[in-house]
Amino acid sequence: MRAAVLALCLVWPLGARATELDARLESNLLPPGSVAVCRVRGLAPQGLVLAGLHQEAGFYFSPADQCLVALLAVPLDTRPGPRSLTLAWPGHSQALALNVGPDPYPRRRIRVEGLQRRLEHAETRGEAGLMKEAFDSDLDSPPLWHGRMAWPITFTPTVTSPYGAARVYNRGEAGWRHQGVDLRAPDGSTILAAADGVVLLARHHLALSGNTVLLDHGYGLVSAYFHLSRLAVSPGQKVAKGQVLGLSGHSGLSAGPHLHFELRLRGYSVSPTPWMQGQAADPPAAYPN
Ligand SMILES: [Zn+2]
Repeated sequence: MRAAVLALCLVWPLGARATELDARLESNLLPPGSVAVCRVRGLAPQGLVLAGLHQEAGFYFSPADQCLVALLAVPLDTRPGPRSLTLAWPGHSQALALNVGPDPYPRRRIRVEGLQRRLEHAETRGEAGLMKEAFDSDLDSPPLWHGRMAWPITFTPTVTSPYGAARVYNRGEAGWRHQGVDLRAPDGSTILAAADGVVLLARHHLALSGNTVLLDHGYGLVSAYFHLSRLAVSPGQKVAKGQVLGLSGHSGLSAGPHLHFELRLRGYSVSPTPWMQGQAADPPAAYPN
């Protein structure tokens, strides 16, 4: 699959031997949970990749910007401070400086009945492995999304628990970071695809996420929809932005009806909100085949 993305670097085959590319990050100061966007203008060599933050990504051509673009997640557990990303191509490399800003997310104590039992149930059934395998399954295919994403509900979103919140359950015996946003959604609300994609997983009765849909948007970007009451799609099915995926509910580990919505880039969760505002990654308006 890597070849599919890297082949696009042939759009501008390297004529002369370039030693310095016209490359820049959209922003040099990014908080954990955001997306590093690198644009390369002018001639670009074959085999160009962007590496750093425990990831490596190929470039795709963005017709809207007339340049090559690569995206990396800034993982939620990244400590603040200077980092270096590397543009690499055969025989060369070029450093790009990045500063990771402080963690802006709140800490919350919430009580969830039956947490321990559900965690053990999920572990027994290998659900963490199932999700990880899905999130990491298609890192190098071309992007399928077009333009900004849409919140996956039919009414104005109300965030009941924000992305990145450090959660302490019950008396603090178990805690982790919230990897998505919780949106208010009464039982039976219609849940929609946030962007064009392919159904990666549609499963009932997972111990933590309940009835679950994952969509593959290409280029290692996956959206996740948890705690549904009904599923309306099947694995492998192509879906368009706004298409019905199912109905909301409170299946799995959930204190009440809501939608947990999550975006993963190259396996790392990122804050969904900037993607809804069209800021996170300036997704391609079109994609040349
Ligand atoms: Zn949640």
